[in-house]
Amino acid sequence: MSLRRARGAGVQTGVRRRASAPVRDTAGTSRQAALVPPGPLHLQVSSALQNWQLDTAEALLAEVDGDLPPTPGADRGGAPLTSLARAWADTLRAELLVRRLRLAGYSLLGEPLVEGGPEQDGPLDLHVGGRDAVPAGSPVRDGRSESATHAALAIALVRSARAAFDAQDDDLQRAAGLARHARIELLSRRVDAAMDEAVEAASLLDPALPVTPLLVHTLGSLAAVLADLELMPLALDYQSRAAEAAASIADRPGDRVGDAERQAATALAAEAATRLAALCTEVGESLLDDGSADAAAPHFAQARVLADRALDQLPAGDPAVLDAQVVRGWALVGGGEHAANTALLRGVVGAAAASADRALLSSAELGLGRALRRSGEPRDADDHLAAALALATEHGLPRLRRAALRELCTLHAELDDAARALPYLQAYLADELDRVDERRTRWVELFGRRKSLLETERAAGQLRRQAYEDALTHLPNRRYAEARLDGLLSSGAVPALAVVDIDRFKAINDAAGHPGGDAVLRAVGQLLVDGCRDTDEVCRWAGDEFVILLPETTAEQAERAMERIRRSIAAHDWSALGVEVPVRISVGIAQAARGDDRRTLFAAADGVLYDAKRAGRDRVVRLSGVTQTREVATLDAEPLDTAAPPTSVPDAAAPAVIMEGMSASPLDDLTDDRATDPADAAGGFAPLLVEPAEAPAQAVVPDAEERPVRPRTPLDELFGGPAPRPAGRRVEPVAPAPPVVTAPAPPAPREPVLATGPDVIWGTGRSTEQVLALVREARREHPDHPAVVVRASADTLVALASEHDAYTTMDHAAMSAAVGPVPEPVGRVGVLCASSGDTPVAAEAAFVARVTGSEVVRVDDVGGSRLRPLLTDPSLLTDVDCLVVVAGLDAALASVVSGLTEVPVVAVPTSAGQGASSFGGFSALLTMLNSAAPGVVVSAIDNGWSAGVFAARIARRTARP
Ligand code: GH3
Ligand code: MG
Repeated sequence: MSLRRARGAGVQTGVRRRASAPVRDTAGTSRQAALVPPGPLHLQVSSALQNWQLDTAEALLAEVDGDLPPTPGADRGGAPLTSLARAWADTLRAELLVRRLRLAGYSLLGEPLVEGGPEQDGPLDLHVGGRDAVPAGSPVRDGRSESATHAALAIALVRSARAAFDAQDDDLQRAAGLARHARIELLSRRVDAAMDEAVEAASLLDPALPVTPLLVHTLGSLAAVLADLELMPLALDYQSRAAEAAASIADRPGDRVGDAERQAATALAAEAATRLAALCTEVGESLLDDGSADAAAPHFAQARVLADRALDQLPAGDPAVLDAQVVRGWALVGGGEHAANTALLRGVVGAAAASADRALLSSAELGLGRALRRSGEPRDADDHLAAALALATEHGLPRLRRAALRELCTLHAELDDAARALPYLQAYLADELDRVDERRTRWVELFGRRKSLLETERAAGQLRRQAYEDALTHLPNRRYAEARLDGLLSSGAVPALAVVDIDRFKAINDAAGHPGGDAVLRAVGQLLVDGCRDTDEVCRWAGDEFVILLPETTAEQAERAMERIRRSIAAHDWSALGVEVPVRISVGIAQAARGDDRRTLFAAADGVLYDAKRAGRDRVVRLSGVTQTREVATLDAEPLDTAAPPTSVPDAAAPAVIMEGMSASPLDDLTDDRATDPADAAGGFAPLLVEPAEAPAQAVVPDAEERPVRPRTPLDELFGGPAPRPAGRRVEPVAPAPPVVTAPAPPAPREPVLATGPDVIWGTGRSTEQVLALVREARREHPDHPAVVVRASADTLVALASEHDAYTTMDHAAMSAAVGPVPEPVGRVGVLCASSGDTPVAAEAAFVARVTGSEVVRVDDVGGSRLRPLLTDPSLLTDVDCLVVVAGLDAALASVVSGLTEVPVVAVPTSAGQGASSFGGFSALLTMLNSAAPGVVVSAIDNGWSAGVFAARIARRTARP
């Protein structure tokens, strides 16, 4: 095989991944970059490995490791390998060894592989092997000891590579490493280990990761592993993501990319589409096999479209064309167009035979065999299918092997040749059984893993994202803006801040509908981002308000930038979004001065924004210097809620707060507003410049009654009312109010608590399909909160996880799953479980409380005389906002606990573990109901979920600020 024709690892359909340049041709390519996917050396080695050209792979890797004399032209100099490059070198080397072991009939751990392995000799003794046991190049003693050496070395390499990947900060590189390790485990038929790694890789592939060729590579290799694990729906999901990502890379405007880069992007997109098409045909074939021709048809149709697209994208003569042709052939045959297809497939088989690509040849032979069988040419079909089978078996391609066996078995059955059909059937069934067995193990594994992985994932990634990202625009949200600004200000920076509000957005919503309004919000967000520098941060504040943090920027610079953006938004073609009303923005800008706090700066910018609105909208207004004039007596008689009387004499030298840049636009088409807006009616904004040293405080005080009433904005939440207006005036720092109390102060406003009750769906008595349908409906109706399934069977949980992969939170102890975004936790619920018999109900309560949006602390086994942990650590009973006590036999626990704490208690009686005397939990229920403790409410028997929702609601309300 030419070194120029590298292909990706683990791709059953023979879809190739090409190196953008062979490493031998790129003396300047750093070894690091070349080794790390999708670097050229990485792809070359992968290709050689996949085609079982193990000596070639070894030679390439030896160059990296310096085991052999250097190849002229190869980059041998430079720094030692980085830990990431080293991890990849170890990974590829481990795969090489595992493949050698597989040829010798052993797994990574030195166990004989079942199929044709030297079982009779038993497992290898790995102690005789090891890195130093047989020096490289020395004659080996015998096959077993060589294999033992390989196994010991492979295990060491896998360990060190895994540790190095685990230590990487880059989630994507870790995921790429894990996906590759999953493949290595699969080669050894270590399905559980492969599953672990695949699930872990999946948990790292956050949907928000930036789209890069490495992302495409990783998603694709994970999809290939998932397909080999027979998790077809998941494989399709990941490959679809890969194909979408690759397409978006290829569609990026290419002003700054060269031809080679563009070609590479197109090739990547074609390859991803071909792989997706291949998976679609596999799904189609298995549906055909189940007799569901109608259900299969759309899969073949989709595969055909994808393969056609790939063929359109690829230049003639590109080796990847053959892959796309094979898959297209599969799709056409699946769709019933066999006869027309045989000639084409014969050509592809011929071309594939001329290449060194055995996987491609096997797939082509399978396609041709299928076409011939289905068009009534059994003899010819037999030859090609047998060839496909032999190649697939020899090259360890289980899915191709099974497909070939299935075809052969059907073929001979159709010919009434039982003697020949039977061995194929037996082999097929043996593979099938193997598969079913493996699957069971995998799912068990999946549950345990998923739980902790998803929890970690949510804690580390999703939560962070949900907490700091606005769901509609995917911009950072208000929480982020506040934290970021606090950080900037406390580090002594003096950023500029722009507050942007869309003019007459309600009218836009009315004209374009709410979804149209949403589209405008997204587009405005994008135009703001596009118009800013990379270092500026555009955040969605709330509703139609955005804020932009401009570090290292003066108010004047910010004004120029915002004015440019304002024009670009006004000039944007909004009709493309179906919006026929004008879209304009008003902007208020303030610049921080040292010592400003966030609220002051926001209030300043928001105040000038208000003035921009008052002055007719569609304009940018800037305020310079927020605190410089703090010492000056207020110019604005508008009573600031928090304003203290001035404490010092105005400093005449201090600059006045000056409102500038009233860049009134001719686009003011909103004259209707002027009639009702006093400032507008007066002909525009009046006090453009006020000299504080000369102006007595009262001089510019408008009559408070005349001031327009401004609608309350999210900013007001910071102040408890419409924001003070500093523009043309001054901003007071937040200061304590004078201690004159005339009436009791109204309670401080609190953050609203959003209704977050999940939709709860009972699995009991429902089929998987019914539960899936209910979940879909719940998700449709309430996309913003999770659908929670409780008491589901394992099958149902598995099906949920497959259908809503990235969105599912699971707890197998609770036999429950939540599908959809889990709210950020507020408050804490303690769940006390009396004894092990009560655990499922306690697990359910804890799970539901967590997905309803509170933190959960579990304390198990505290019934009867085992109360000690609660007594020795009183925080378990006090540092929570609500307690759930789950007890059957020990039903009195609820009132005991209530006597030890003031925290409200929800008691859940259970029917568990008491035999007939419990009367199905009734006796526990009565004990709890008859409790004399006032702080206890009682839920229904065994009803963990409603106790969980209830407790979380209490916790969320109690804990809010
Ligand atoms: P003004 O020029 O004074 O800003 O007038 P306006 O109509 O834009 O008034 P305001 O900014 O108060 O209106 C904001 C509107 O934005 C009110 C609300 O219905 C709408 N809105 C808030 N959030 C969303 C959202 O996520 N999507 C959509 N489509 N509309 C939203
Ligand atoms: Mg608005």
